[in-house]
Amino acid sequence: MPLIVQKFGGTSVADSQKILGAARKAIRAARSGNQVVVVVSAMGKTTDHLISLANEITDHPNSREMDMLMSSGEQVTIALMAIALESLGYKAVSMTGAQIGIKTDNTHTKARIKSISTDSMRRALDAGKIVIAAGFQGISDDGDITTLGRGGSDTSAVALAAVLGADECEIYTDVDGVYTTDPRILPEARKVLQISYDEMLELASLGAGVMHSRSIEFAKKFGVTVHVRSSFSDGVGTLIVGMSESDAPVAGCAVAKNEARLTLVGVPDKPGNAMWLFSRIAEAKIATDMIVQNVGLEGRTDISFTVPATDSTATLDVLNLVLVEVGAERVEYQEKVAKVSVVGLGMEKQSGVAEKMFRAISEKGINISMITTSEIKISALVSLDDAAETLRAVHSTFELQKTPVKLNEPKNLPVQSINKIDLDVARISGMEDIIIESISLDRQQSQITLPAVPDKPGIAAWMFENIAAAGIIVDMIVQSCGRGGKAMISFTVPRSVLSKALSVVGNLTSEWGSAKPQHNSEIAILTVRGTGLRSHTGLAYRMFKTLADGNINVNVISTSERSISITVEDSSGERGLQLLKNEFLAEMM
Ligand code: ASP
Ligand code: MG
Repeated sequence: MPLIVQKFGGTSVADSQKILGAARKAIRAARSGNQVVVVVSAMGKTTDHLISLANEITDHPNSREMDMLMSSGEQVTIALMAIALESLGYKAVSMTGAQIGIKTDNTHTKARIKSISTDSMRRALDAGKIVIAAGFQGISDDGDITTLGRGGSDTSAVALAAVLGADECEIYTDVDGVYTTDPRILPEARKVLQISYDEMLELASLGAGVMHSRSIEFAKKFGVTVHVRSSFSDGVGTLIVGMSESDAPVAGCAVAKNEARLTLVGVPDKPGNAMWLFSRIAEAKIATDMIVQNVGLEGRTDISFTVPATDSTATLDVLNLVLVEVGAERVEYQEKVAKVSVVGLGMEKQSGVAEKMFRAISEKGINISMITTSEIKISALVSLDDAAETLRAVHSTFELQKTPVKLNEPKNLPVQSINKIDLDVARISGMEDIIIESISLDRQQSQITLPAVPDKPGIAAWMFENIAAAGIIVDMIVQSCGRGGKAMISFTVPRSVLSKALSVVGNLTSEWGSAKPQHNSEIAILTVRGTGLRSHTGLAYRMFKTLADGNINVNVISTSERSISITVEDSSGERGLQLLKNEFLAEMM
């Protein structure tokens, strides 16, 4: 019998009438011949309310007791939902996380799921009942109630769908699907029919708040088909599956508004310094984003990154400390910046996506102060005042408002290796553990650096257009904020076209009257690829540490949800690969 998991978020169960409405959706699914598991959040803003009650008493409530407190919200909803179903003539049973057997670690308020037992749910389903499961909660080995972090009911729902082998996991929410960008910012945004896990993960991490990132990592790991749809209408929503909606290069774009940019200028370029900086920042529990370490010049390099604006003071404190520890020159920072990103699996196979984006931005006369790229994402940092206009320009240049002419099949890919995880093993331990799919070495690349290009609108667009016009495919583009009004741009190109690329950019720098391009004809790129890279924040740190301990100097870094790439000297490539393989052996599939 087909099995379906339905998750209702807080707004979908905000009052008794809405709970009845959700119950009717469950009944409809049951009547059409499915076994049904319903996962619910706390009603409306209950969780916020519970947290503020604790905060009225103290600023530092005990985290075990916070879990006890917060989990009560979901317990109310499961009971009411079961009562609603029975009143409508259906057999139902409510279950807490502990009753289901959702085992987590004991990190209170942000626990990770270790295993889920399906026995009690199966028994109830086989007895013809609709199972109502409390989202967001689990139980530790010590028998304490734990919660999975704010928004964690999505993760509960997808995890249950995974262990039960559900045909679909429906996420009922107050929006009717996933949009090409936030429709509250751009009304022309379009609801997409389908989006891939990787694209959704990138967009979620960029603040497209439809779903909890961890739930998408789960869905990807176990090949769960997720259907995001509205609780208040019956229309079809958006499927999150293994494949993009179309072969278009860009699937969606997003803006992260509350960011600050910090730069440690003049860091002595030697193994371990980047690692040291980021370990200090990690100790302070600050999440970094958009890390750019540029090519070292005269033995020194600049490391820039963005953090949430609320963390900027704390980050400055850390940087001032590290400044002394590593002997850097100074700290610079810029508040009120915004990161605009485009995401798409299709850009992997096409060239010219970056310059198209830079061109659209420059046509509005907007300056880009930092650029990072990964295989499926390009991000540009602009000033906060320009954020909405940048987003609009980018959205329209990729024609995201139009439904693609040729759509891909709305189904999951044939089971990939990543989905073949033995569910029995997964049930036993570490369902949320990081998975490393591959560690690879690319020794076909060269790197070009333009140390001091004019820092003004249109420069990046102009440059990459010229390079694309020469038929050259570039990768790992990094632009960092320049010193003294200049920007530094570096990128990699295949070794076979290095001289051609150098002559193109050489013409440009002489036209601009700026310093000549530099190059490293033989660099190696080391890439670690996997699932859960971002939510397991220690990974980048472990990569740096492993290489630093092996005395290998890290050059340019590029990060995304599914991969972290760094460039090193070609001569260190093989050894770096070996060191990383040893380090990550335990997590490799
Ligand atoms: N009730 C929890 C929260 O508000 C979990 C959830 O809604 O997903 O964070
Ligand atoms: Mg919620």
